[in-house]
Amino acid sequence: MSIENTYQAQQAFFASGATFPYAYRRKQLKLLKKAVKRYERRILAALHADLHKPPMEAFGSEVGLVYGEIKYCLHNLKRWMRPEPVSSPFMLYPSKSKIHRAPLGQTLIIGPWNYPFSLIMTPLIGAIAGGNCAILKPSELAPHTAAVIANLVQETFAPAYVTVVDGEGSEVIPALMQHRFDHVFFTGSTNVGKKILEMAAPHLSPVTLELGGKSPCVVDDKVDIQVAAKRIIWGKYFNAGQTCIAPDYVLVHAKVKDALITAMKKAIASFYGDNPATSKDYAHIINKKRFDTLSSYLSKGTILHGGDTDAANLYIGPTLMENAAIDEEIFGPILPIMTYEHLGDAIQYIKQHPAPLSLYVFTKRSSTEKTLIEQLSFGGACVNNTLGHYTNVELPFGGVGYSGMGQYHGKYNFLTFTHAKAVMKTGTWLDVKLKYPPYRGLGFLKRLMK
Ligand code: NAD
Repeated sequence: MSIENTYQAQQAFFASGATFPYAYRRKQLKLLKKAVKRYERRILAALHADLHKPPMEAFGSEVGLVYGEIKYCLHNLKRWMRPEPVSSPFMLYPSKSKIHRAPLGQTLIIGPWNYPFSLIMTPLIGAIAGGNCAILKPSELAPHTAAVIANLVQETFAPAYVTVVDGEGSEVIPALMQHRFDHVFFTGSTNVGKKILEMAAPHLSPVTLELGGKSPCVVDDKVDIQVAAKRIIWGKYFNAGQTCIAPDYVLVHAKVKDALITAMKKAIASFYGDNPATSKDYAHIINKKRFDTLSSYLSKGTILHGGDTDAANLYIGPTLMENAAIDEEIFGPILPIMTYEHLGDAIQYIKQHPAPLSLYVFTKRSSTEKTLIEQLSFGGACVNNTLGHYTNVELPFGGVGYSGMGQYHGKYNFLTFTHAKAVMKTGTWLDVKLKYPPYRGLGFLKRLMK
């Protein structure tokens, strides 16, 4: 079907009201869950083909999270859909007010290549829960996963409800966005995010932007150094550093720098063995272009550990660096380490970059934790952990400033894909004359509204 026909078909289907009832949404979520189960092996194989993703990481961060999101949504959807009563001021007596969560309509979901399955499926769950239609655009840079998503969706949903459009993003998305979407949900780079916002502007389409940025990891001198090292190394080299919320760089208190580096080297060896190139638990770089960009960073500082590359296998070993001047988001397995002596200096350094998507703080001092959380702007944070906040469906996930706008996951996914309709209903048994012209009750009104 052409883009034009797909768009028209979805418009007609949404207008029919078929997607509105709770029973319909519930059934579609269950169908999606069954389809993911049916396709599970193919999804994991595709993720391996695209990124050499270890099955444990692929299941945990792509398939398992999608099951979790559907389960949570099925458990709560009825309650979320119920109009929410709120109080009404005395002045409006006898009125009652409620917030109705209304479906938006036609939605467009655009995904990146690094978590190419879950970052399309998770917003789709929100779109279905909200009673919407959806066009999905997976990343062409993870072609095996994009093909599996297309098959899964085609087998599960009518194209007038949910469908996949594939191809080069720079061609397909502008063609799609000549039409008005009731919501555009984009996950990807900040540069393309700006273009999405521009394309949405003429239609006044609401947009969620899930972008990237440099997520700092601050390590205080009062800290469990072994645990900190393991959790930083795990979070950094998960998916070979190709995670939007991966620790981008470490700011460690000068007193514990050497101990941290020693513990980090030990953690790398214990996770991936002496030669990570042969590890089944270590992902590879998505393509040659990214491999070349990342390889060029290796000459921008002093390598403390790793630095080995293999272009034929798109492999870059887990690398620790110091004196590294890398201004852009690294988005690969290279971890610059810098030191600070006063927390204020670490804060000043972090503030020089646009607001990060995530902040990681390792400390046993509640004052350090409190100061960093209060003084820095960031999307989400972990204290004494990395990545974990993303996986808690009770927490909103999203960026701030240049790391994005809007949130999703759990209830926030449903809220993003619905509109809050404010409805007030007033009884007719009492009709206070004072509010009507000719006006006489100004003094009374002033007393009431003070
Ligand atoms: P990208 O911006 O290059 O691509 C994302 C999507 O946009 C793809 O589907 C692509 O086809 C499309 N696209 C590319 N060029 C386009 C154009 N000119 N016009 C319209 N659409 C276009 O991002 P990427 O390289 O796939 O992903 C990496 C980036 O995504 C990193 O910056 C990372 O931090 C970020 N990211 C953010 C999150 C998050 O949740 N905040 C998650 C994953 C990745």
